Amino acid sequence: MSQLERTLAIIKPDSVARGIAGEILTTIEQAGFRIRGLRMLRLDRRQAEGFYAVHRGKLFFADLVEFMSEGPIVVLALEREDAIRKWREAMGATNPASAAEGTIRKRFGTSMQRNCVHGSDAPDTAHFELGYFFRESEMV
Ligand code: ATP
Ligand code: MG
Repeated sequence: MSQLERTLAIIKPDSVARGIAGEILTTIEQAGFRIRGLRMLRLDRRQAEGFYAVHRGKLFFADLVEFMSEGPIVVLALEREDAIRKWREAMGATNPASAAEGTIRKRFGTSMQRNCVHGSDAPDTAHFELGYFFRESEMV
């Protein structure tokens, strides 16, 4: 039996602004993820920098922080077996142009930056990122 795992997903500001957050939530549920936590919020610049601290120093960092704090986002704690890998698979590649057919980024992404969704990439980052937004008692 494989173990249940949790990962942090974000519906990014581009998706919320375009009114496709609901469609992405439907996709998430239909793909077999259980939603254990859900919140809408707006990151300020400092919070966006802290969340993406691993990318500090990269050329796209300043633009990424600007983008992630431009409007409301939806943060989600998702659970299923192999959740981290399966959610990355459902999102598709970082660049929507090269993402696989049927993935969220292929369906809705408009650029390398405005790629609609985020997902943790490993168990340690999932732990950090879930803790960034949710207390244990807020994941039900
Ligand atoms: P995420 O961490 O958001 O799930 P990812 O793991 O597929 O995406 P990362 O390499 O971690 O990709 O980059 C984080 C985010 O930074 C990307 O999702 C994208 O919004 C932005 N980004 C990454 N590379 C570039 C780039 N070359 N130009 C512009 N934006 C970029
Ligand atoms: Mg990443």
